[in-house]
This record gives sequence, structure tokens and C-alpha cells, in this order.
Amino acid sequence: MAKTPFVTKEKVEEIVKSIPTPFHLYDEKGIRANAQAVKEAFAWNPGFREYFAVKANPNPFLIKILQEYGCGTDCSSLTELMLSKELGFSGEEIMFSSNDTPAEEFVYADEIGATINLDDFTHIQYLEDTIGHIPETISLRYNPGGVYEISNGIMDNPGDAKYGMTKEQLFEGYQILRDKGAKRFGLHAFLVSNTVTNDYYPALAKTLFELVVELKEKTGIEISFINLSGGVGIAYRPDQTPNDIRVIGEGVHRVYDEVLVPAGLTDVAIYTEMGRFMMGPYGALVTKAIHEKHTYKEYIGVDACAVNLMRPAMYGAYHHITVLGKEDAPCDHKYDVTGSLCENNDKFAIDRMLPQVEMGDYLYIHDTGAHGFAMGYNYNGKLKSAEVLLKEDGSYQLIRRAETPKDYFATFDCFDIIKGLV
Ligand SMILES: *Cc1c(COP(=O)(O)O)cnc(C)c1O
Repeated sequence: MAKTPFVTKEKVEEIVKSIPTPFHLYDEKGIRANAQAVKEAFAWNPGFREYFAVKANPNPFLIKILQEYGCGTDCSSLTELMLSKELGFSGEEIMFSSNDTPAEEFVYADEIGATINLDDFTHIQYLEDTIGHIPETISLRYNPGGVYEISNGIMDNPGDAKYGMTKEQLFEGYQILRDKGAKRFGLHAFLVSNTVTNDYYPALAKTLFELVVELKEKTGIEISFINLSGGVGIAYRPDQTPNDIRVIGEGVHRVYDEVLVPAGLTDVAIYTEMGRFMMGPYGALVTKAIHEKHTYKEYIGVDACAVNLMRPAMYGAYHHITVLGKEDAPCDHKYDVTGSLCENNDKFAIDRMLPQVEMGDYLYIHDTGAHGFAMGYNYNGKLKSAEVLLKEDGSYQLIRRAETPKDYFATFDCFDIIKGLV
């Protein structure tokens, strides 16, 4: 399947007149259509809520759009909690799924009434010691260990992951929490990242539903919400078939009716914490070709670098690239597309077949809407880019300005040593 940019070369030429490259561009229309589809896919479950994983894209303008579709937020840090509160999310619309959590973050999460999802058994005591009580609503994170296998093979290796607690710890944990006064319980698990199959959520749901039935039989504790967390992936490669959220929602519905309903568990709410699926395809990094280099390989140097999009350097992740205006030209040139960091892994693509790239061409790097800008850093003193929203009516809006050197030097503002720069 061809991957098509959501913007034309002409539109980009218009945007760069006021906002220079590189920048991340977001597609409002796509974000809205997808958020609506997610809502409809789980409408069979009256308690359903998608808690958008803020870490995937912490831009308040974008989170505000998701809020219109009933989404809450899933936070993993103090600043994400602060942002959610400031955007007007109520406590029950905020999930706090953190790990290795500092005390002050538990304090703040409790203060704003967020649902706390504990990563570990020892955190029960730590939380009580920290905030002085056990919240009425509380969730625990499960790790089944071993390898996680579904019909299409081994998906990942939870036994090697730092997250979650064992089944024994989980069962004991709920009983301790009940004894300490908790009233409403949740179960959470995140076992596989970026799954490009409609089978992951239904398989995970089955695992968790069976666990919840067993918990009820053994302890009498009834789980109120089951959080399938993130992991629903996107088709980064043109040959992948994108997930169909309607099929996924129906799959979860089917196991709900098969496992929970016969056990008398008929009003369990389903929660999700998708990040990548909510935003990934609706963002792109727009960058300009500024150098070509012909040595032992052919290189195209662009004005963005790994600071703007780290996934290729960090995971060797594939991001499709379209040369704007050359959508239909034959891909008959092989390039490494590089950024300017003094790191040889600063390459957006290696041995990639593209149309002939000329200096000044705009390269559209697909699927940067999640874990793109958000992972940015400042190595080599590079500054983070602007973010721009392409609105439904075709106009555009700056939704984050680019960093300036002043931002970069700002943490020296309490000293005199580089006074001239801060
Ligand atoms: C990262 C993360 C998510 C979002 O994951 P995606 O793969 O982007 O959907 C959700 N929940 C938790 C706890 C996470 O750490």
C-alpha cells in the first residue's frame, strides 16, 4: 500500500514562508477521524475511556482535540500530570501509569485525584507511607512473565521487562488494598509494543479477563476496570496492513461476552492508553535537503536531525520518506538521508530508494506524530523544532514555537557565567 502525505508540496511552500523547516506537522482531520473511530469501536462498553498516553505527544493543542472525543490522559511523570490538570481534565480522566515513581509524583497524583496504577507490589506500602492513606480507587499492573504468544507467533518477552508484578503479588496486592480500605480496583497490563495485528488487544483482553474471573473466585474481589494500555501499532512500512480499530473493538467485545459475562462480571469498564495509534500517522517531520555528498555512498543531508526524531537512531526504526512534489517519480536513487549530529547513527534512512533528490526539496518523513518530537533532546546543542497544525479547513497554525538559543541556555539563568546568552 502506498503511503500518501497529508500535505502537498504547495502547502508546505506556503507554510515555510512563515515557519522555517524543520517542523513537525499534524493533520487535524486525521486525528479527529481516528479519535471518533476509536470511540465508536468501543461504544459497546458503557464505561470505556481512552486515556491518551501523553508521553507520545505532550502538545496541549493536540491533547485538547482528543479531549473533545471523551479521551482522558495517561501520565508517567509530574509534568504530564500538571499538563493534564491545567487542560481541565478531572481526576477520573487522568491515569497515572508510572514506574520507579518518585514520592512527590504520587503526592501530586493523589492531590489531583488521578487514578494511580501501581507498577509494583512494594509500591503499595510506599504509596501509603508517602500519601498517608490508600486511595479508594486504585489499579495494579500485571506482568505474566515468560514470552507472550498469540496465534501469529511470539510477540514479545514480558519476562525480561521491568514493568508490572507477578500473579501471586497481584492477588496478594488486591487483598492488602481491600483490607486497607480500597473500594474500586483496576487491572492493567502492557505486554507488547507497536503490534500491527488486530489480534493483540483481544488476546490480551482474554488473558486479563480470565485473571479477573479467577481473582473473583479466589478472593471475592471484583475488578471495576481493565486497562489494556498501549501497544496498538501503526503501519510504518508501506507493505504493512494498518490495524482496524473496529475489528479490534469487536474482538475485545467477543471475549468480554465469552469470559466476563458468564462469570457475572457485566459492568467492567474497558480502558485503553494508546499513544502511537492515536497520533502516530497524523504527524510528519518536514525537512529540507541542504547538502548532497558523494563518497563511498550517496548522502542527502537535511536540516532536521535525530534531535527532532530519534526513533531511527535509537531503534533502527523505519520511517517512510516522500519527496514532496515527486510522489509519482520512480524511486531509482539509493541514499542515506542524514542529519547533522556528530553521530554516525544520525540517519533517517539507510540505503533508501527515493526519487532523485535536489537541493531545496522538501522531505516528508511519515508517522512522527507519536514518540517523535516528544523524544527530542538537545545533543550537539541542537534546538527542538516548531510544531504546526494543519487544520481541517486547510489553514495552518503554529502550536509550538521552535526553541531558540535562549531556551537552550536558560538553565544557567541563575548564574553570571554566560550572562550574555540567557
Ligand atoms: C508508552 C505507554 C503507553 C502508550 O504506548 P503506545 O505504544 O504509544 O500506544 C501507554 N501506557 C503506558 C504505561 C506506557 O508506558
